[in-house]
Formats: sequence, C-alpha cells, structure tokens
Amino acid sequence: MNKVVQKFGGTSVATHESRERVVNKIIAAKNQDEFPIVVVSAIGRQGSPYATDTLIDFVNTSAGIIADREYDLLLSCGEIISAVVIATQLCNRGYKAKALTGGQAGIITDGRHRNADLLYTKTDVIESCLEQNIIPVVAGFQGVTVEGEITTLGRGGSDTSASILAMGLKADRIDIYTDVDGIMTADPRVCDKARIIPSLSYNEVFQMADSGAKVIHPRAVEYAMRSNIPLVIKNTFSDEEGTTIVQTTKDAASKEIEHLITSIAHRNDRVQFTVQDTVISDKNLLDQVAKENISIDLINIFPQYKVFTIDESHKLKLETLLQKNDYKYTLTDGCSKVTVIGERMTGVPGVMARILKAFSKSHIEMLQTSDSLTTIACLIKKESLSDAINALHDEFSL
Ligand code: ADP
Ligand code: MG
Repeated sequence: MNKVVQKFGGTSVATHESRERVVNKIIAAKNQDEFPIVVVSAIGRQGSPYATDTLIDFVNTSAGIIADREYDLLLSCGEIISAVVIATQLCNRGYKAKALTGGQAGIITDGRHRNADLLYTKTDVIESCLEQNIIPVVAGFQGVTVEGEITTLGRGGSDTSASILAMGLKADRIDIYTDVDGIMTADPRVCDKARIIPSLSYNEVFQMADSGAKVIHPRAVEYAMRSNIPLVIKNTFSDEEGTTIVQTTKDAASKEIEHLITSIAHRNDRVQFTVQDTVISDKNLLDQVAKENISIDLINIFPQYKVFTIDESHKLKLETLLQKNDYKYTLTDGCSKVTVIGERMTGVPGVMARILKAFSKSHIEMLQTSDSLTTIACLIKKESLSDAINALHDEFSL
C-alpha cells in the first residue's frame, strides 16, 4: 500500500467547513488504498485565536519578550491543537486516528530553538499506527531534542515536517495541500496573469522558494529531492491535479511549450545599502556584518564602495554597526526583489537585455541585479512590484 504524507496548511484547517474538506481528502486517500500520514499547521493566520502569530502577540503583550526555549514550547501548541481537532474529526467519521506531537512522531532535532535542524527520525510510532490501521495526525513545525526539549523548525516548518517524515518512512509521495491550485508562474496575489504550472523540477521549485515564493518552504524541497520522493502541491478547496515536482521535467516538457523562464518569485521588505569602503580597507565590512548574523544579498563590490541588500528587520542593527564604525553610507528602503527562474536560461544570451527592455517599457527603475546559472534577480521599488511582475510575465510569455 502506498504511503502518502498529506500536509495541510493554515488556511486549510482554518474553519470548521475547511476542516471537513481536509478530512474528506484524507478519507479519499484511504479509499484509494493509500496510507495517509497527515501533517497539519496551526489553525488560521494572524488574528485567529490559535494561530502562531496570535500566541506570540499574546505572550509579548501580556508578559514581555519570551526566551527561545519557552517560545518553542508556546509555538508548538498551535499545531498540537490542530492535530487533535483533525484526529477527533476522523474518529467521529468512523476512522481510527491518533494525534501526535512532532516529537512523538519521531522528529529528533538539535537544540537550536526557533530554527532547529533535523538530527534523525524514529519511525516506530508511526509504523505501528500503520500496522494497526490508525491514521497518524502529526503536529507540524516541531520536533524534540534527544533530551526531550520541544523545538520548532522555523517559519513554514510544517512543509519541512512533511518531507522529514516522508524521508524517514520512505513514503511514495508527499501531497502539500494549500489554498491555491498548485505552483503558479508568479504569486497570484500580485500577478493577475499567473497560471498553474503542471510540473516542475525540484531545483526550479527550490530556487522559487529560496527567492521568496511562499507556496512551499525551501528546506521541504531539499529533503524531498534528497530522498527522491515526488512532491505534489494541491488545493484543499478544489479537485485540480496540482503541480508535481520531480527530478527533471522532461515528461512535462512534452505537454507544455518549453519556456525559457518558468516562473517569477519575489521578496518584499528589502533595504539597499551603499557603503563607502575601499577594497584594500582592513575593516572587513562583510565580516562584521556576518558576525552580527545579518544575512546580505545582491552584493556588488566596487573599488570605493559596496552595494548590498538586507531584510528590513535587520535595518536598525546594520545602521548601528555602520555608525559605530564610522562608515559613510546611504540606503534605499521599501524595495522588492524580483527573481526570474528557469533551468533553460543557462547559457542563453540576451535574457538580461529582455528584462531591461520590459522594465523600461513599463517605466520601472532597476536598482540592482545579480544572476546565477538559473536565476536573475532584480531590485526595484515596492510600488512597481505588480507592474514589474506583469511586465516580465508578458515579456517571457509565461
Ligand atoms: P499554507 O498556509 O497552506 O502553507 P501559504 O500561505 O504558506 O499556505 O502558501 C500559499 C500561498 O503562497 C498562496 O496563497 C499564494 O499567495 C502564495 N504564493 C506565492 N508564490 C506563489 C506561486 N508561485 N504559486 C502559488 N502560490 C504562491
Ligand atoms: Mg506555507
């Protein structure tokens, strides 16, 4: 019998009606002679009573800043509630089901609270559920250390839980259920022309996720790729086939026109810094920034200065560092990074020229660019985000 890990995100478990749909999807898998291993996110998004952000806001406002260990303990509650609710609903529909914490499901991590890394998986509890025809419903986003401390896996961590369990159980497939019909050529919230892509390679999806496309977490793609388990992104609220992610999209190419660019991802809240710093300076600007754990992106180095971007949340920390060390700098905030992704663009000349042409036709100013074999990233002002993505969507006939 095929083992299928089914992961349901925050919107999928948000309301009674949506949870009924979740339960129907789980039962449908059982009826097709598959064995579902269910992973759930916390109920709803910010504002809903048990959503992760609501729990953090509650403790921050009523008690103050939380220590990392307690933060993880608190956050793990949201997914546990969700797992209990779904398992109970399944039982009341006549199916045997059991809610499990991440730790009980065998996800053993290191002790890096808020962003723990997998050490190994212990699959005996889930295996024994499967033997007894019990559907395991696992709280996503969490694990446990060898010492029994509860940890969380970083934002978007329920996707990672699903891939970790699939890897440990040697599952046949991972179904990530969300609120869109699959992976689209761009985020439908900013691009009205976005359309579903039937099939993509792990590498392309990893680049998308790593460039900000929220639809799946990059670490989840990495684990699935490592164990070569097909990953399918589907909608809880429809019966569409979704997007299948596999090693190569050769099979998909026969169904589709070969696109040079397959998708466009974006990340908001970027701040661009231009810092005066000579190449021969012994102050080691980039080292100092790294020591402060500020991750930088889009780095361009010139003889007299360096240009790079950071996340808005690190702006104060970076400014303090620059001022303390007497650096002269300017900054532009309110930026977005738009990344075009496509495995077929490697070695094809003129892609950058087409991006520049598309931007200039729509009067969009390009603040900075950088490229890799399969991506080109462009920094623009956030006001132009939607125009920029639509312009690129047209230019590359997505
Ligand atoms: P979940 O709670 O199910 O994990 P997320 O909000 O994390 O859902 O991810 C789904 C959202 O990702 C969609 O509603 C969509 O706005 C966003 N998204 C961003 N880029 C894409 C893309 N390329 N394709 C589909 N959805 C995308
Ligand atoms: Mg998500």
